[in-house]
Amino acid sequence: MATFDRREFLSCVAAGVAASAVTAGEAASHTSTPLDPSGQAPRTAGGLTPPAFTPLPLGAIRPAGWLLRQLRIQADGLSGHLDEFWPDVGQSQWFGGKAEGWERAPYWLDGVIPLAWILDDEPLKTRIVRYVDVIVKTQRADGWYGPYPADAVAKRYDMWAILLANKVLVQFHEATGDQRALDAVVKSLRAMFEGLDRTPLYGWGKFRWYEGLVSVYYAYDRTREPWLLDLARKLRAQGVDFEALYKTEDITQPTPRRGLWKWTKHVVNTGMAAKAAALNWRLDGRPADKAFAKTMIDILDRHHGQVTGMFTGDECLAGRNPLQGTELCSVVEFMYSLEHLFSVFGDPAFGDRLERVAFNALPATFAPDMWSHQYDQQVNQVQCTINPDHMWTTNGPESNLYGLEPNFGCCTANMHQGWPKFVSHLWMRTPDEGIVAAAYAPSRATFKAKNVTVTVSLDTDYPFCERLTLTVETDRAVPFPLVLRVPGWADGATVRVGALPERRMAPGTLHRIEREWNGKVEVVIRFPMKAKVTTRHNEAIAIERGPLVYALKIAETWTRVNADKPHRELPHGDFEVRPGSAWNYGLVVDEQHLDQSVRFEERPVGAQPFSPEGAGMIAHATGRKIPAWKLAHGWAGELSPADTAWADPSRSVSDEPDEELTLIPYGCTNIRVTEFPKLKG
Ligand SMILES: [Zn+2]
Repeated sequence: MATFDRREFLSCVAAGVAASAVTAGEAASHTSTPLDPSGQAPRTAGGLTPPAFTPLPLGAIRPAGWLLRQLRIQADGLSGHLDEFWPDVGQSQWFGGKAEGWERAPYWLDGVIPLAWILDDEPLKTRIVRYVDVIVKTQRADGWYGPYPADAVAKRYDMWAILLANKVLVQFHEATGDQRALDAVVKSLRAMFEGLDRTPLYGWGKFRWYEGLVSVYYAYDRTREPWLLDLARKLRAQGVDFEALYKTEDITQPTPRRGLWKWTKHVVNTGMAAKAAALNWRLDGRPADKAFAKTMIDILDRHHGQVTGMFTGDECLAGRNPLQGTELCSVVEFMYSLEHLFSVFGDPAFGDRLERVAFNALPATFAPDMWSHQYDQQVNQVQCTINPDHMWTTNGPESNLYGLEPNFGCCTANMHQGWPKFVSHLWMRTPDEGIVAAAYAPSRATFKAKNVTVTVSLDTDYPFCERLTLTVETDRAVPFPLVLRVPGWADGATVRVGALPERRMAPGTLHRIEREWNGKVEVVIRFPMKAKVTTRHNEAIAIERGPLVYALKIAETWTRVNADKPHRELPHGDFEVRPGSAWNYGLVVDEQHLDQSVRFEERPVGAQPFSPEGAGMIAHATGRKIPAWKLAHGWAGELSPADTAWADPSRSVSDEPDEELTLIPYGCTNIRVTEFPKLKG
């Protein structure tokens, strides 16, 4: 048996630059797998360029702590029960029924397959197996699935739902090892390979062609059939070129209120397309694809970016105003894209961004019990009502209700993938038998390093708190690298391995610890969270701390609506939410001494982690009332003490008393103000 190895090799690999820092006073030899700064793929000879990091098989990562509670809430809410009462899933043509036969049932499966297998939820797994059985058994001899219309050989057929269904079936194959699922995908892809010559991509398929590459690559890795890569190239050739599209004004111009719906500005297409560059790069390793992956997000941030890490689209790209909406489908799709981007390129910034969306935009758009959701969320959202006077670009008056299918049922079908895919991408494999923390949340991952079983367990209330305890456990001694993503905001980050001295880690890097692991070793990580003020649209300010954005806690009044509409029996009803306390505040903050302006207070994370009462960290700040219309109309900015903008011209903001405000994490709110006018002290 190997003895405990006192030599430890610590290094810091900055994204794109290899740098080695060896522990002081200890004999050390250093090895690392630096990312190539040129962006050139390491090898492309005939096959696919390998990703920087490889996701673990579905089920190898389990949630723990607050994350396990969140997944359980999801399975006990709409996700785990939708098929029982919503015809578009339960009676889908995909499952032999007569209802919708397009994207809705595959969307639901795309989220509940990882949900059920991550939780090991037997009743849900049993139902899913039954549904997948129908899809596989009713596949036609020519490879097309059940709902594919008989006349599609002569008439045009939009390929989107088939691209999606194959993505679903490869997840099922990964979870269960059921060979029939993989065979069905290969047969379907073969039919598509020939069908695309007859009917080239158009409509949704043309804007979502890269989704097909997910199942193509999965099948290629297992069959090595060269025609699969030809199919990938055919899909790309027929699909939209996003690099070219993002050079046009079509993307930079916000859609006007009640404007024109456009494919190019569609927010869900946008969230999905963020991964096209990563999938493209795997085909031929073009450095331009690697560069474009970042450029695309930069362009979106500049013209439509929100403090939550999302961009607006209600449902077409809508500018930076915090009153514009962001559709739930785009949130879960952008998360999945960021998971791909981190995996393929290994850039820690994509992991930072994934956490920002996952901990803010994702939970905010659900009711805390996950029985209802919004179509559109707003960063400044002081009420959610049926509002014919709405300011959306192309969505309808019910878009920000919490309900079963507000505005349109796509999010009802597609929202399920957010948390489960986040769990299954928390940890990934390095090319040299190691493990990398892509994102942080309480979890446990099991894998084999050089044939030795290894478990890494992360015990933490992160993102609410800054301390993370990782336990690495092995059956016997085995060397492998443990790579930690150090968030870009984490100045002063430290790590301590076992009884060894604490080490600093550089923010925005991948910190690599190479050693022989043996038995149980505790790794204590600290990511100091310093509050920060960011300037947003119209000079408004937002408060951030670590990966969380903080927003005003507003008392809520929930009112049930649409009770007479079909399928709205409780608990899956529709609700309006109105404010029960004042919300029209500006913030008084001293940016030079922010610690004194905003005080943070740790709380136990609640049974519902993302609820106003369950917040694991709250903040106290000082505010003063301002004229409501200034917020309601999207105005924000610095108000002078003499500003008299109330309806009563003799009333001044400077006359208003200071009030202590409670801010809570954005993801814990249902209604909120997040971007505040800044007031002078
Ligand atoms: Zn949607």
